Amino acid sequence: MTETIIRAYRYALDPTPAQTEILHRYATASRCGFNFALGMKVAAYERWRADRNHLMAQGMNKAQATKKAPKVAMPNRNQTQADWRATRGQPFTGPLLPGQERPMPFAWWEGVNNRAYYTAFEDADTAWKNWLDSLAGRRPPMGFPRFKRRGRTRESFRIVHSLAKPDIRFEGPRRLRIPGGGGQPAFTVRLHQSPRDLTRLITTGQAVITSMTVARDGHRWHASVLARIEEELPTRPTRRQQAAGRVGVDLGVKSALVLSDPLTLHARQAPTLTLDNPRLLANTARKLARAQRTMARRFVKGAPQQSQGYQEARSKVAKLHAQLAARRATTQHLITKRLVQSYAEIALETLNTKGMTRSAKGTADKPGRNVRQKAGLNKAILDIGFAEIHRQIEYKARWHAVTLAHVPTFFPSSKSCHQCGWIHTGQTLKDREFHCEACGMIMDRDANAAHNIKKHAQPDQPQRPVQSPGAGAATPVDCM
Ligand SMILES: [Zn+2]
Repeated sequence: MTETIIRAYRYALDPTPAQTEILHRYATASRCGFNFALGMKVAAYERWRADRNHLMAQGMNKAQATKKAPKVAMPNRNQTQADWRATRGQPFTGPLLPGQERPMPFAWWEGVNNRAYYTAFEDADTAWKNWLDSLAGRRPPMGFPRFKRRGRTRESFRIVHSLAKPDIRFEGPRRLRIPGGGGQPAFTVRLHQSPRDLTRLITTGQAVITSMTVARDGHRWHASVLARIEEELPTRPTRRQQAAGRVGVDLGVKSALVLSDPLTLHARQAPTLTLDNPRLLANTARKLARAQRTMARRFVKGAPQQSQGYQEARSKVAKLHAQLAARRATTQHLITKRLVQSYAEIALETLNTKGMTRSAKGTADKPGRNVRQKAGLNKAILDIGFAEIHRQIEYKARWHAVTLAHVPTFFPSSKSCHQCGWIHTGQTLKDREFHCEACGMIMDRDANAAHNIKKHAQPDQPQRPVQSPGAGAATPVDCM
């Protein structure tokens, strides 16, 4: 069965000092482009609000005024683009909005490929839509979209690949070509890893590059290249997967994952039931905590400019954050990859929106332990990324013909005995072990939950693969 999938290939870049300058310029352009687009939206919104407030001052209540206030057309990407084309290169004369940085006389528009702006305008559309959706209750609550401030926002830009004029490509064994624009020629950046996996697919016509995101994480720049790939997927699990059958996966609070059956992560290590954040992460987290204390100590409140020492501490914190994120991602990918390779069926909890924002506090059914202690620790290490693990299992399952199974949302997986079904109503939140008073079974609480999930999950209805051929329409997935 051939399927079209979108995969991300991430490479560390090794730019020359001159190229680094260009990358900074692109990132600045993207940030300013976003702010330009958001500024237009905020201005339109403020006009509407002024009209509404005027009606309210005349004695209407809020609901009536909201209804009666004249509608304001929200400028979308196309309109932003037209405005930007008309005004770029000219001094900015418009009023400044609260929090908006004065767009320099549009100096940032030069020497940058137009597409870096267009995607930034698109991102502003998305940010605005997400905010509206959150107001309507279609998404978890969020704040009003914010301007991207210099030094506070991750430096990044995205360029959508034009299929008519394919100008993002690999050159030589380890170089990536970044298109020029605005009077600036294209240039090629050295890569740290070999892009051979992807170039081979491109040469045989199985893969097409759809877009590229370049971002700075700590001290290093990365390019994430999205490619649309035609792939031959297995129609049924391998014999080994079939022999292993089904596994129950519980997303614990103490351990990242607890399994009903042991899994071999590394060839030379014994199979394991609990997949914790590796010690590696704990070490980095300790270093991070120390670096953050140093940074806090060097911070001078109210100073117009922070010291050199503070800047150094700050870049160290950023570097450690980037390391932590990279290591966590590697671990997550390894776990989810092994799971889909090893089993024919994977049983999971049903993840609700609450589960996605689950914190150290845990949920009613699964309270977090050592909440105070954990809240004091760095959030980065505790944020195991339940939603991310689920997302990865879901898309990778298709690559290995794995069937997914889910237990109903409110199934009491940590309160009932997986052997006889007895429900422990009086279980205290601190109990690490599950003691069954009906059949005498004693087991780790999370392991019992994993067994329950394995036992009670219902296989999902097989989904017909829905893939839109449009670039960016499918959810991008990562290649690991
Ligand atoms: Zn029992």
